[in-house]
Amino acid sequence: MDLFDMDDVVVGPPDECSTPLKEWRLKLQAGTLTRNDFIEFFKKESPKYFDYQNELDTVKCMFKEALAKEEIIDVLVEFMLGDNPKSALEKLRLEGNTATVCGKVFKNGEPTYSCRECGMDPTCVLCVNCFKRSAHRFHKYKMSTSGGGGCCDCGDNEAWKKDHYCHLHLDNRKNPLESKIIGGAVLERSEICFSAILAFCVNYLEIEPNASLKCLDGEGLELDGAHFCTVLYNDESHTFDQVIQTLTKIAKCRHKEAMEIVAAIDREGRAVVKCDTFKACNELKTAIENQMIPPSGLLTNLRNNQSLRTSVLHINSVACQQFALQLLSWFQEFLVRHYLFRKTFSELVQQKQESFCIRHILEYDVKLWKTARTCWHRLLISGMLMEYENKMVLAQEFSRRYATMVEDFINDDHDHAFSIVSLSVQLFTVPSIAHRLIAKEGIFDKLLHTFYYVAIEKFILNRTLHFSKNIASLTFFKRANYILYDLRYLLSLKPDVLSNELRTGFLEGCKALMRVLNVMQGMESITRQTGQHMDYEPEWECAFNLHIKLATTISQVIEWASTDKTLLHKLYKMTVRALVSNNFIVGGEEAEAKSVAGHVANCLIYDVSVRPVSIHLPLTRFYAGIYLHLGTHDLSYDCLVAETEALNIKMTPREIIEPVLCTHAMIAQVAAGMWRRNGYSLLHQLYFYKNVRCRVEMLDRDIVCLQIGASLMESNEFLIHALNKFNLIGWAQSNYESKLAESPLDDEFMRQLSMIDEFLELLIVIIGERWMPGVSLVTEEDRLRKEIIQLLCIKSYSHSELSRALPDTTGGNSDSVFEDVINTVATFKKPVGADRKGVYVLKESLFEEFNVYFYHYTKEDKSKAEELQRERRKAKKELVCCPPPMLPQLTPAFTSMANILQCNVFLSICTLTMDRALDIRSRSFSESHVQKILHLLGFAIQEELSEHYPFLSFYERAQQFGILDKLDELARCPRLEAHRDFVLWTIKRYKDMQAKQAPAAAAGPSGSQKKTAGEEPPLTSEEQARQEKETRAKLAAERRAKIMAQMQSAQKSFMKSNAEMFANSDLEQDSISTGASSSRGAASSMSSTAMDWEDISDESLEEQGAAALVIKQNPACLGPNRAHYQSQENSFKCILCFENCSINPDGPPLVSSAFVQTSRVILTTPSHYKGKCGMHVSCCGHVMHYQCWQEYYSNEESKEQRRLHRNRLALSQGHNVEFHCPYCRALSNTVLPVSEPLVGLIPGGLPGVPPAVSSESYLPLDCFVEIMRTLAGELSAPAGDNTMWQYPSVLRRSNVIGDLAQFERSVQLIAKPQLHATCMEVMTSFNKALQNAMISQQPNAVTEGGVGGEAENPYLVFDTCSYTLESLEIYMYTMRKPLKVEMPMRHQTCTTNLVRACALYSSWAPQRPELASKLLDTIFNQKGTSVLEWDCFRMLVQLSFGVLNLMVRENEHTFLPSGSMFDFYMLQTMFLANVTKAVICFDVEKQLDSRRAKEEAGKAPTELSQLAYVEQLPSKIQENMVAFYRRYNVPARMRQLVQQKEAEEKHNQGHSQSQNQEQTVVIPCELQHLALMLEYVQCQMRAFLRCACLFYRCLTDVEFPDTFPTEQPDRFDLMCQYLGLDADMGVYFDMETVYATVMHNFAAHPHILRQAEQCSLRYGDPVEVLPCLRPLPELKPLFEDYSDLINSVSDIFCPNNEREEMKTPTMCLICGKVLCGQSYCCQPELGKMSVGACTHHAHSCGAEVGIFLRIRDCQVVYLGRGKGCYVQPPYLDEYGETDQGLRRGNPLRLSQYAYRRIFMQWLGHKLHEEIARLNDNANVAVTQWHHM
Ligand SMILES: [Zn+2]
Ligand SMILES: [Zn+2]
Ligand SMILES: [Zn+2]
Ligand SMILES: [Zn+2]
Ligand SMILES: [Zn+2]
Ligand SMILES: [Zn+2]
Ligand SMILES: [Zn+2]
Repeated sequence: MDLFDMDDVVVGPPDECSTPLKEWRLKLQAGTLTRNDFIEFFKKESPKYFDYQNELDTVKCMFKEALAKEEIIDVLVEFMLGDNPKSALEKLRLEGNTATVCGKVFKNGEPTYSCRECGMDPTCVLCVNCFKRSAHRFHKYKMSTSGGGGCCDCGDNEAWKKDHYCHLHLDNRKNPLESKIIGGAVLERSEICFSAILAFCVNYLEIEPNASLKCLDGEGLELDGAHFCTVLYNDESHTFDQVIQTLTKIAKCRHKEAMEIVAAIDREGRAVVKCDTFKACNELKTAIENQMIPPSGLLTNLRNNQSLRTSVLHINSVACQQFALQLLSWFQEFLVRHYLFRKTFSELVQQKQESFCIRHILEYDVKLWKTARTCWHRLLISGMLMEYENKMVLAQEFSRRYATMVEDFINDDHDHAFSIVSLSVQLFTVPSIAHRLIAKEGIFDKLLHTFYYVAIEKFILNRTLHFSKNIASLTFFKRANYILYDLRYLLSLKPDVLSNELRTGFLEGCKALMRVLNVMQGMESITRQTGQHMDYEPEWECAFNLHIKLATTISQVIEWASTDKTLLHKLYKMTVRALVSNNFIVGGEEAEAKSVAGHVANCLIYDVSVRPVSIHLPLTRFYAGIYLHLGTHDLSYDCLVAETEALNIKMTPREIIEPVLCTHAMIAQVAAGMWRRNGYSLLHQLYFYKNVRCRVEMLDRDIVCLQIGASLMESNEFLIHALNKFNLIGWAQSNYESKLAESPLDDEFMRQLSMIDEFLELLIVIIGERWMPGVSLVTEEDRLRKEIIQLLCIKSYSHSELSRALPDTTGGNSDSVFEDVINTVATFKKPVGADRKGVYVLKESLFEEFNVYFYHYTKEDKSKAEELQRERRKAKKELVCCPPPMLPQLTPAFTSMANILQCNVFLSICTLTMDRALDIRSRSFSESHVQKILHLLGFAIQEELSEHYPFLSFYERAQQFGILDKLDELARCPRLEAHRDFVLWTIKRYKDMQAKQAPAAAAGPSGSQKKTAGEEPPLTSEEQARQEKETRAKLAAERRAKIMAQMQSAQKSFMKSNAEMFANSDLEQDSISTGASSSRGAASSMSSTAMDWEDISDESLEEQGAAALVIKQNPACLGPNRAHYQSQENSFKCILCFENCSINPDGPPLVSSAFVQTSRVILTTPSHYKGKCGMHVSCCGHVMHYQCWQEYYSNEESKEQRRLHRNRLALSQGHNVEFHCPYCRALSNTVLPVSEPLVGLIPGGLPGVPPAVSSESYLPLDCFVEIMRTLAGELSAPAGDNTMWQYPSVLRRSNVIGDLAQFERSVQLIAKPQLHATCMEVMTSFNKALQNAMISQQPNAVTEGGVGGEAENPYLVFDTCSYTLESLEIYMYTMRKPLKVEMPMRHQTCTTNLVRACALYSSWAPQRPELASKLLDTIFNQKGTSVLEWDCFRMLVQLSFGVLNLMVRENEHTFLPSGSMFDFYMLQTMFLANVTKAVICFDVEKQLDSRRAKEEAGKAPTELSQLAYVEQLPSKIQENMVAFYRRYNVPARMRQLVQQKEAEEKHNQGHSQSQNQEQTVVIPCELQHLALMLEYVQCQMRAFLRCACLFYRCLTDVEFPDTFPTEQPDRFDLMCQYLGLDADMGVYFDMETVYATVMHNFAAHPHILRQAEQCSLRYGDPVEVLPCLRPLPELKPLFEDYSDLINSVSDIFCPNNEREEMKTPTMCLICGKVLCGQSYCCQPELGKMSVGACTHHAHSCGAEVGIFLRIRDCQVVYLGRGKGCYVQPPYLDEYGETDQGLRRGNPLRLSQYAYRRIFMQWLGHKLHEEIARLNDNANVAVTQWHHM
């Protein structure tokens, strides 16, 4: 129960009575309150919140919105709602009467969802909240991102076919409209407030130059005070750079500030650039306006040459405007709260006399700037669109003002989204509103009328449109075309029944349409050029754009008319009238009689080759469209002809088809090469004529038009007309050949042959292309089906390719139809592999329906499809040809078209062609003519067989013409060899027909018998020939197979010998095989597969005991029992000069190209490596002479220099020039030396020579430690002369017992190897390349150890070596590859070359005693860091290379690290260090927990693998272990300290008298715990041991033993064995050995003790623990569902500006951070350059590489140093396709496979390479990647 209701409390009046609230209330009571009281209040108050600072010539303004809200708006609310507005609003919310429609206005980039099943049209969308709560989420939906400004249609009855409401808005429906809270009084007060708000905003927001002077009547107008601002406005015609330039030049802003201002202008539409006196401000304004900005070329716009828009305003007036904006945004949100508020609002704006009436708001939109406009638009949407009545009111006002608004919009230059006309989509797409507007407001007519006058009238010349000379009209036209979009919305849904009023309104619109079509008929006509080429390419795009924009409307109008007989009837007459009035081509032409085959026709004489023709015949095509629907309403041409003639409108079929026939004759002539001189523009036009985007209302209608002609005219006459137009009357005469003999065989003749082809093809199309509703008895689905079948005959299509290849007839709504149809004709083949898409494959049986002459095929389509069909039929052992398909039955209106196939002219053409084919002397013979004639005959036969047409008696007619005999002859004709199968097919079908026609004759023994006998021979001979062919083919195939087998085996051996050449392909196979195995685990994600692998390791460890026996015999690469390497042949071919070369110290030096890069891939804990990065080397391993390479390189270098010079860049210092490996094109930027095995350089170490001395002759480990300690001390002592470091003196001082020879043996001191001088040069340049790379990433980096810069730092090389090996180890581990698995060649050669180079380098590299001393101190003297902080492997490499050579005098001897005893000791030392670290870090509780968890998860309790081992250890060692654990183990110590403290406290509480006796708590440690610990340690040693194995293999060239596993993870014991280490862990805890001492030394480091005490005592800095096993690198896990990802960033803000939403949120896939990509708002500086946020982030996050996901357009970007590329995103739709840019909108899901591929590329350091590869292949437009 509440204490009391706040509403009941009456707040007493405050002491002072002058608060505005009080004043208003008093005035209200007195009845004197007016809206002016509020307006004055706003005006007075708002300047208080405006603040600006002049800072170095740049002004910074800001409006304190939060304060203004509190002090102005909240007061207003309190006045309206009463004393406790908060609780009133809360109650209002609980009443739940917001609205039954959602109406949420979308922000830019917000995801929207449309339902493909239920949406009325594609503009119907849901916001994410509604979508998630609606039934549509289970339907087939599409997703896209809003451009801002639209609103959610949830709850709109007219937007959805079903499921109109989401749960939320369904609930709202139940609530009553009235409210208990909003009473009459509240409404009365609200009304005054609302009107004040509206009046204030309308008054102040308008942009007027110098407006402030007028607005602020007389107040504070002293012109010399600094009270004025110069304001700069946004426009779309100036580029960012132009405005920045203006600001820096004229307003003298600094570049950075100028960029900020420009960003603000772009965001808000305006910005204050100066605050000063009126004079100063006005001068700036004039200067900016006078600034001439050169047009930027690309933007041809009306406003382009205009100056930037500026104004000078009083500061107070700017303040009022800022407040007005805030007020409007608040008001919009306030209106959403209740229906009654909106009601009040709508009543207010309907008052016509007010300044804020709708009319005014609509019309003054253009006078506002961007943000102000958006605020009003949103207000209108929230205030007027939620209730149907209001919507209607707005729609009516909108349509009444339409013409003015559109004109304003066209002359304005803001984007459509920022214009009030963009509201049309909210109004015109509501069917009932649209219909009402058409019926009552004549909106259809008005739109077209406006379009006519605004857009096209000025281009009309001689009653026809001519855009030709107005190139600039393009932009202008684009804007005008929005009218046509509106028209499309308006007509998108046709009503079921038309009222008279609607019909009349519609017909009015049609009249306007006729007028537009009339001027389009014959537009941009062309005349054939002869002699000269065209002077210029005529403009043609405008006309096509107009067509494309209008085509949908035309289809819609025809669609509307098709269902209403009256409408159709009237529209038909209207069209005929328009056609008659248009005299393009058919304006009173002469006619002439022509005769063919005894038939005469009066042909129109219009010579296409000399007179103008046009592609554009929209009127004729509209007629054809209307005509198709006559039949369904029992109307016909004949009955309508009588009617029109009564009106004195005469139009014969001849006149109807004439323009189309002319156009087609022209197209044929173009194909025949007669229009060559007309240039490309004509070819472009013809391309689009046929293209999927245009053809529905172009080519398709033309064919229908010709079919209409064919059905209305007498067949012979029709053919004669067509022949005449193609100039082929002569060819159709029988004396053609004899006449031909007289004339020469010139070009003219060839053209004629080609024209014949074109004519026959047109005839095939007219007869065959009848999958058109109205022409034959088919539906729209059949039409689509036919289209898809024909497409799939060309190839298999992916889903996106297919939907692109099909016309978008009903604005995307055909989508579900498409889906239904496609599934009946094709099967979807799921994608295989990562790169493939899923494809549709045509069902086998449907190949029967293939038509090779399909009219939408291009030439290439045709030949591809034909070839496929022939192959298919060959495979099925059918006749190899492409016979015509069966045709659907014609509708009654078109039936007579079938008669063409039996008329005299047709048959005479057929026989003439066949005769000429048979006549050897004939000159006009062509195979393609015959092929087409056969196709036509095939049609005829099939039509006859179908028995659809009783009048058709093709068989009899064909017999009269002796067709069959001629066919038989053709079958034997050698000239027609290629088409024999087609002839045979025709004969077969002919006989089918014969059998059907005359069954008696077929059975009878007479003529037919004889005939068949006559036929047999050619058939059998044909078959014989075929058989022969087959056997020949079979033999050939066998022979081929044999050769192939031989070649394959040759290839295999070749592959073996050239393994490195196939390194790359191996690699690919690797990734494929891992992909397969991961997909085998189906749902298993990356991490879980890695887990599986770890599990195996447990099991394998159990087998250890058995394996231990085997181990003994295995070779070790280090230590007293080391093996020696087996010599391999080292000969190569230089890839540049192709000469043989072998590695030896005397030969010319060899190198291999390599790539160095900075890397952070394996540095996954960011806290640890702040700013640090490693250096990684990759190397393809292809060998070349150093000399050869230098030549190659200097060439590449000068190429690069030329390139940079072209781009006006200088080769920066420290820039590594990139080049490609000349052999494999691998990206490279330096070279690595290729050297022989190191052991080969050791005199005693040559292969085959056994170790000369026994193990006793070496110094022992403790001596080594002692020597190192001494050396460290010596090195750090103040430098005297460096002879004191030399080993004899060091040995002496370290008190080591033993002689010098023993030492020399132990370290393998050798005479300094003879190295080629250039070899050192290579290493120096390699070192330089590393430094360059490092410096460019970390300009002020002082490389670890002190010195960067110019000096050569050998430690950089050594660290590169360790980093490269460590990343390789992690890479292989992630790929689940043990060491023994065959490594890709490039990894193998890379590690070998690198390690050998380092070893050689160490023998003569500049010495760095200070670094060595630090290193030795750290390791041996416990100075510096503790083991916890070490990367033990890295230190091992440094130790191996960087120390020993300090002890020899230069130029005489050297230590070459190659597996000496000291090398072994170093390994042992670091091994012990790592073991110590593992023991110290071991946490017994954690391990026990995880074991328990495993058991609980149902896994069988695993045996403690080490328990048995621990149990058999001597008790002394066990005790040592326990002691070591208790003393040093950090978690144990911590627990002990905590418990001790607790005990002490308890103790202190219990007995107040203190006892000094210290109670020691003893941490339990049982054998089981020890076993766990050993297991843990072995596991933690993995990375170190694997790296060490890789390292020492390269150093010693001792191969891994065969016992190394290839399927399972590497084993601790085996690796120890190989490295010569003792795998018996007990040994290391034996106090007798030096091991234990070393470990105690490591463990006793003060940092470790501090770490242990840290939690209890809290002192000192925490130690940064580097775990033994680095955490595995991984990319950011992504959402499964792409829309979740989009939502996650839908309200994310720019880090630089909290008010601005991110435009292109871009996620770093390495760390997951979301950045403002490629945007002016975020351009941090890197070095001295400002770069994009991603580039900046990549620099530190990925050490100059970055992987980014641009979330809104679903694209993945790889960024490298100033370069980048787009790669396939990891999100795929159900068809396995990506959707870059979200164009298709199918739901997308994360593909683990694709994501893993990106991951592996990153992990393998292949991003730079991938970027280079992709930029190499594609001619990518130069992208400014650094702005990304
Ligand atoms: Zn919604
Ligand atoms: Zn909803
Ligand atoms: Zn749905
Ligand atoms: Zn060479
Ligand atoms: Zn290569
Ligand atoms: Zn930003
Ligand atoms: Zn990152």
